[in-house]
Amino acid sequence: MKYFSTNRESKEVSFKEAVINSLPADKGLYFPESIPVLDAATISNLKGASLPAIGYEMMKDFVQPDLSLSQLKDIVEDALSFEIPLVQVEEDIFSLELFHGPTYAFKDVGARFLARCLGEFAKSQARETTILVATSGDTGGAVANGFYGVEGVRVVILYPSGKVSDLQEKQLTTLGGNITALEVDGDFDACQALVKQAFLDAELNNRLNLTSANSINIARWMPQSIYYAAMSLRMENSEESLIAVPSGNYGNVTAGMLAKRMGFPIGKFLVCSNANDIIPRYLKSCEYEVHPTIPTYANAMDVSDPSNFPRMLELYDHSFDDLVVDVSGFTLTDEEILATIKDCHARTGYLLDPHGAIGYAGLKERLKIDQIGVFLETAHPIKFAPVMEKALGEKMNMPEFASDLMSKEKFSVRIGDQIGDFRSYLLGL
Ligand SMILES: *Cc1c(COP(=O)(O)O)cnc(C)c1O
Repeated sequence: MKYFSTNRESKEVSFKEAVINSLPADKGLYFPESIPVLDAATISNLKGASLPAIGYEMMKDFVQPDLSLSQLKDIVEDALSFEIPLVQVEEDIFSLELFHGPTYAFKDVGARFLARCLGEFAKSQARETTILVATSGDTGGAVANGFYGVEGVRVVILYPSGKVSDLQEKQLTTLGGNITALEVDGDFDACQALVKQAFLDAELNNRLNLTSANSINIARWMPQSIYYAAMSLRMENSEESLIAVPSGNYGNVTAGMLAKRMGFPIGKFLVCSNANDIIPRYLKSCEYEVHPTIPTYANAMDVSDPSNFPRMLELYDHSFDDLVVDVSGFTLTDEEILATIKDCHARTGYLLDPHGAIGYAGLKERLKIDQIGVFLETAHPIKFAPVMEKALGEKMNMPEFASDLMSKEKFSVRIGDQIGDFRSYLLGL
């Protein structure tokens, strides 16, 4: 498979190049030159199959010839080694729980797949590859965990000191092995600036074989289509369903659109946003108008200019009319997020996290009679304990995984927010 840039100025590249480059030089996004459509027999044979088996079938055209089928088999088995259950919340509403991976959020799926692809590519290189990641919290944990123990790859993760939650900090700083956490005296922007400067530094690049694990990497995006396919195979009348996806950068929901294009029986999409509602507004007006970012309780979705928007357009061949047949938008305020968490818990006993709550509320409002709705639960509620406690008016029980993590010892290297410190640290590796 070849990948083109959505800006159409950079040349087409192979899967391997797209993964290693992450971003084309023309600053577009990589996109497969064709989308394989699985025939009805293949799809029906996948009913009851495991996530890795479904993933193998879906990804094989995308990764060949740069990865062999046996490499792909190992990658999907390793990357999709946890459950993604479809849990009934109400008669017509189901939750697709994406938080059973090592960092309790859906980003584990893409991060683990990408890490293993880069691990395979690193094997053919004489030198170790160094991945630099700046994180404001969640993403870094998923990436760090994804690469943990992958041979030939070292990960240096930068996070702003005092600006991530305790649980998130422990996820970044307790792995050890090939993962190092740098605690930066500065904010997230400072961390990002350091990473950018390192990539522009020829000596560092040569010495360390630097690569990024950017969230728009094709190998993080495409494997997310696998759980939509698996979901559709487990449902009755899935082609009539409404799938509510809490969205920020729109990687998750566009991966669902990819699964639908590949032939899986998936109904319509409800894209769900917090106050950062650029796509719901776009779907109404066809105008893409960026507003300043607003901080909300569903903070993993505080994105004002979603990076995967060009992929959404490609998936519908740039036809606004086709897009709005399949996709509609929904928005929830912070106060409504709290009320939804409280109400759903009181009526059903189900604990929504602040992001999943927007999806659930969207289904409550938009689901038609006899239609089945699924919302994606993108993270475990304990990751947002302060918001949960505000909503529920009581303390949350800390699950065992969280208390285990909190009891581990933190290892981080403290650095300033100027390139000098960071550079000497990297050159000393
Ligand atoms: C990243 C994230 C989202 C948003 O996903 P996108 O793919 O960026 O749309 C939603 N919820 C949680 C918990 C996340 O971490």
